[in-house]
Amino acid sequence: MDTVYLDNNATTKVADKVLDEMLPYFSDYYGNPSSMHTFGGNVGKKVMNAREKTAALIGASPEEIVFTSCGTESDSTAIRAAIQSNPDKKHILTTRVEHPAVKNLCEHFFKNGYQVTYLPVDGLGNLDLDYLRQTLTDDTAIVSIMWANNESGVIFPIHQIAKIVKERGIVFHTDAVQAVGKIPINLKETGIDMLSLSGHKIHASKGVGALYVRKGTKYSPYLIGGHQERGRRGGTENVASIIGLGKACELAAEHLDDINTRVKKLRDKLETELLKRIPNAQVNGNKDARLPNTTSIGFEYVEGEAILLMLDQFGICASSGSACTSGSLEPSHVLRAMGVPFTSAHGSIRFSLSTYTRSEEIDFVIEKMPPIIEKLRELSPFWKEKKVAG
Ligand code: PLP
Repeated sequence: MDTVYLDNNATTKVADKVLDEMLPYFSDYYGNPSSMHTFGGNVGKKVMNAREKTAALIGASPEEIVFTSCGTESDSTAIRAAIQSNPDKKHILTTRVEHPAVKNLCEHFFKNGYQVTYLPVDGLGNLDLDYLRQTLTDDTAIVSIMWANNESGVIFPIHQIAKIVKERGIVFHTDAVQAVGKIPINLKETGIDMLSLSGHKIHASKGVGALYVRKGTKYSPYLIGGHQERGRRGGTENVASIIGLGKACELAAEHLDDINTRVKKLRDKLETELLKRIPNAQVNGNKDARLPNTTSIGFEYVEGEAILLMLDQFGICASSGSACTSGSLEPSHVLRAMGVPFTSAHGSIRFSLSTYTRSEEIDFVIEKMPPIIEKLRELSPFWKEKKVAG
């Protein structure tokens, strides 16, 4: 079997139809969308068309979409815009399980005099909404809470959260990089002010993203320059990637049903079979409110990195739950926030599927995983100790 790619929360393959749409905009139609001539103007129309398709996927209006370079830029733009628009307010509210795109930016603001509250999560990765309510203050400039977690797949009740935050008249941003294309999103039904998405998580290319900014939301650009994006983000547009993003959004809407039925079943089969065949293994996170493509499983008494290396020998791609910084294999901040015991957090593996995942690939992983874990446990002094202790 060739590569078995189960790391789609890290990045996805560019869909063939997306690439087909993009290619002519490198070679034949290379005009600047802002130019006055028809050659450039036609490119501008195609960018507009991509804006409509992106908006349609999330139930927004095209004027509410600002194209960016990635999810990280969208997150940064949203949080900085809220802070600049509310210069008297010095408090930011977020969670302990955000992606570094939000987490590290909040830390940056903390170092620059802002007060930051990181809401805790329980053992299943859930937030306490009463605690959220109590933590909002008149000094809160923005609340930024992700829609779905990239590691555990846990989905936060974002509509309820938006309601609580908006009742206090505070700006609400959600990092929906992992949610878009996996669960239905209709922004007309919510109080969300800003939402981030990223192209490379939904089968568009790397280096393109979008920020939804609800009409009427106070905004200031992060990239100050030309009049592109109606003055909301300076810089000549990454035309081919934006056009690819538009196509990817159209395809994502078509594939939503497949992700929530066939792919979800494959995920469930993988999870159930691994738990059945491998002792001392458990799922990290709330199984009931979870992305349909994601499972994070802790295999006790083994190192996640060792599992990944052995999977790699069979061409299987997955991720571990460690933050591999400065040579130490600390469990990630997400697993630590959930209080996953060290023995299990160290051996946590995330499998993330996509609409291109096939049933044979899942069977292959189910076959290969148990002997890998068994072999690694034979080498583990902790496992031997545990067996002796009974
Ligand atoms: N937010 C979440 C939840 C993510 O999973 C990621 C990427 O993994 C990002 C933000 C950053 O997106 P990008 O890689 O497009 O900057």
